[in-house]
Amino acid sequence: MTPQIPSELLPADGRFGSGPARIRDAAIDSLAGPGRHVLGTSHRQAPVRGLVGRVQEGLASLYDLPEGYEVVLGNGGSTLFWDAAICSLVEQRSAHGVFGEFSAKFAAASRRAPHLADPAVVEVPAGQVALPEATAEADVWAWAHNETSTGALAPIERIGDGLVVVDGTSAAGGVALDPSLVDVYYFAPQKCLGSDGGLWLALMSPAAIERIARLDSTERWIPESLSLQVAVENSRKQQTLNTPAIATLWLLAEQLDWMLAEGGLDFAARRSARSAAALYGWAEAKDVTTPFVAEPYRSPVVGTIDFSDEVDAASIAAMLRANGIVDTEPYRKLGRNQLRVGMYPSVEPSDVEALCDSIDWLLENS
Ligand SMILES: *Cc1c(COP(=O)(O)O)cnc(C)c1O
Repeated sequence: MTPQIPSELLPADGRFGSGPARIRDAAIDSLAGPGRHVLGTSHRQAPVRGLVGRVQEGLASLYDLPEGYEVVLGNGGSTLFWDAAICSLVEQRSAHGVFGEFSAKFAAASRRAPHLADPAVVEVPAGQVALPEATAEADVWAWAHNETSTGALAPIERIGDGLVVVDGTSAAGGVALDPSLVDVYYFAPQKCLGSDGGLWLALMSPAAIERIARLDSTERWIPESLSLQVAVENSRKQQTLNTPAIATLWLLAEQLDWMLAEGGLDFAARRSARSAAALYGWAEAKDVTTPFVAEPYRSPVVGTIDFSDEVDAASIAAMLRANGIVDTEPYRKLGRNQLRVGMYPSVEPSDVEALCDSIDWLLENS
């Protein structure tokens, strides 16, 4: 029989996924409240276009976007954005820092593209961080801000000439960023941004928009759904090429309004940092647990905790799940004796403390 964690120890909300992740009740209530009048209406008309505009303005304020930067969006999530980038951003060759599953996927997609030269790739073992090699000849420099598969946070800096294209999927809305250091910062809303999956969004610099327009005017064949030029043109009209998930846009707009009302990106990043201090402090104080990632690369939004051999982390995750605490399993391909904890801004820091108490109880009582 599964041990039952005493209810006074349990977190108020048991969702600790790294994506999809916890969505705040207030956002879901507003979707079922005022949102019901927008759901099921045309994405070519004012109410949904207004919603897209709210998302664009919200992101521009959250990041205090420099003059000329635009918020572009489309369907298909961050995974689709890799293919769109290969069509519309990489001119001849990309350079990648690979330090986990997600940063590896963009590099692999670039390697397979028949119209591009083989990418320059710097790869390090899981848990570490790699930036592209500055001496490589490349016109796109790519890495992930937060590698969700390992819980490692990378620095953001300018490298060489060319466009800096950063995967911010699990960092956007939870980690500080100076947008002037990136040309494209792309992400999806199901992580820090407290919404559902299916969309990609990108903060784009004038240089990125110029590259997109130039590649669009060449002979290169670009499928319409992967064309960033088409996405830029639609985004300027608060639209997407094809039908977006309106509920996803609504929840995203609500999350942005919440963050901005509470103090913006500083507020959101501080909340995640508080959760992270609780989780890593707990793991460091115990004999059977160690944070997987060494400082200074420990992620404030996705925490990975290794367990020593005498504890089976998979069985801890299963017992937590049976107690309503879900999605603490590690990234499936990492294969470590580990728990992974999503600590996005929607998660209450007190719930992370309660999660630690619940694991302590299971270690003593199972
Ligand atoms: C979740 C994630 C992705 C994939 O996002 P999708 O919207 O599912 O395509 C890509 N990169 C990183 C860093 C992620 O965390």
